[in-house]
Amino acid sequence: MPDIAPPVLNPIALYACLVVGGGPAGLFAAIACAAALAERGLPPGARRVAVLEKGPRPGRKLLASGSGQCNLTHDADVSDFLDNYGGAEKGSFLKPALHGFPPGSLLEWFRARGVEFAVEANGKVFPASRKALDVLRVLEAEALALGVEIRPGARAASVTRDGDAFSVAAAGAPEPLRARTLVLATGGRSYPRLGSEGDGYALASALGHRIVEPRPALAALLVKDYRFADFAGLSFPGARFAVRRGGKKVAEHSGDVLLTHEGLSGPGILDASRGIAPGDLVELELAGLGAEEFRERLSAELSRAPTAYVKNAVASCGVPKRLAEGLVELAGAEPWVTGAAFRRKHREALVRLAAACPFEVEALAPWDEAMATAGGVALADVSPKTLASRLVPGLFLAGELLDVDGDSGGYNLQAAFSTGALAGRSAAAKLSTE
Ligand SMILES: Cc1cc2nc3c(=O)[nH]c(=O)nc-3n(C[C@H](O)[C@H](O)[C@H](O)COP(=O)(O)OP(=O)(O)OC[C@H]3O[C@@H](n4cnc5c(N)ncnc54)[C@H](O)[C@@H]3O)c2cc1C
Repeated sequence: MPDIAPPVLNPIALYACLVVGGGPAGLFAAIACAAALAERGLPPGARRVAVLEKGPRPGRKLLASGSGQCNLTHDADVSDFLDNYGGAEKGSFLKPALHGFPPGSLLEWFRARGVEFAVEANGKVFPASRKALDVLRVLEAEALALGVEIRPGARAASVTRDGDAFSVAAAGAPEPLRARTLVLATGGRSYPRLGSEGDGYALASALGHRIVEPRPALAALLVKDYRFADFAGLSFPGARFAVRRGGKKVAEHSGDVLLTHEGLSGPGILDASRGIAPGDLVELELAGLGAEEFRERLSAELSRAPTAYVKNAVASCGVPKRLAEGLVELAGAEPWVTGAAFRRKHREALVRLAAACPFEVEALAPWDEAMATAGGVALADVSPKTLASRLVPGLFLAGELLDVDGDSGGYNLQAAFSTGALAGRSAAAKLSTE
């Protein structure tokens, strides 16, 4: 790992750009800004860029990403990315950033610096070494090579716009730091132990930005009166499920679903969680069939072998074997009931369970387990083409701090790098035109 200088901050100098937050978005914004300023031939004194990072080192969440293996991006065309951020509005906001620095360019950038990649069958892209540290090392080395000052332990406590510059009060600096442009890239609120404690919301709102209430995303669901704890570990690949709120269907999804000890998880549930709230009902197709089809197939099975156990018929209609007996019991019948003795009301209850098993959401997994944040700095006040604030000249915003969150599979890191690149380039462009 390259040595990182101790936090000796220079309050007298005017920084060209201060980046608050040393995650992937902030590091990449600093790299993009410093590279663009160097390209434009500005003298070193006029292109000082620093990253203020409150933690003991930058990129702690990056190091934890993909269980330490870092699912950097997804193997898909950039246009397919846009559907993976929770709706058309979010996708179209990210379009300029993702097109400006698409997945192929991100991989090329790292390849040019010695990182090779492996693509999984499901499209997830990881460094071939499976080490997030290899990704972080390259970012740190590049930043240092470009003369970016990385300042661990420098928590930005407050930010004001002061004449033509920003003043940032930061830990370790005896006086506020001054900068001509400012990039806020403090992340969201999930996994606060890795530094993203929501500081950026206070900093952005002090500068006039509206904040869409942050909510846990990529979060498992805790289910009220959960009756499936004995089946924890059972998964339903590509399962269909609906979300009901106040009796009304508000969303339909499909994806891999996992039964846990406390509720539901798996990529399908994690991706849908941004649109799920406590009190919602998730109705899961346990058998992979709709009610009518399941009823017909079950009737056919029971008529074919009326003396056989119902649980066997249930298993042959698509319900995992391990769950079939439990489902018969949950429907109110004896586990050993045969087709001939199976009462109509139990059959109907079983059909409802198999075709749309209801799970009432008690809560989403808390902030220290959710892997992303939905909500954040309202997009209406940020230009998608430059990521410049529409309210404060010279201010740029990047990464998970913004009101965008991606599906699992590499979409969040790609968004962090792409928005970081755009914010950094835009800050440099603003500096060059002044
Ligand atoms: C466990 C886990 C695994 C994940 N795995 C993946 C994955 O494999 N693939 C994927 O695409 N996404 C993954 N994600 C999501 C992804 O890591 C984030 O979306 C991404 O890191 C966001 O980047 P960011 O730079 O915006 O914010 P962050 O990475 O959160 O970085 C923000 C930085 O700002 C610093 N900071 C905050 N406030 C201040 C302040 N006041 N002053 C100075 N510094 C401050 C923080 O300490 C932090 O270092 C994962 C998330 C988690 C929690």
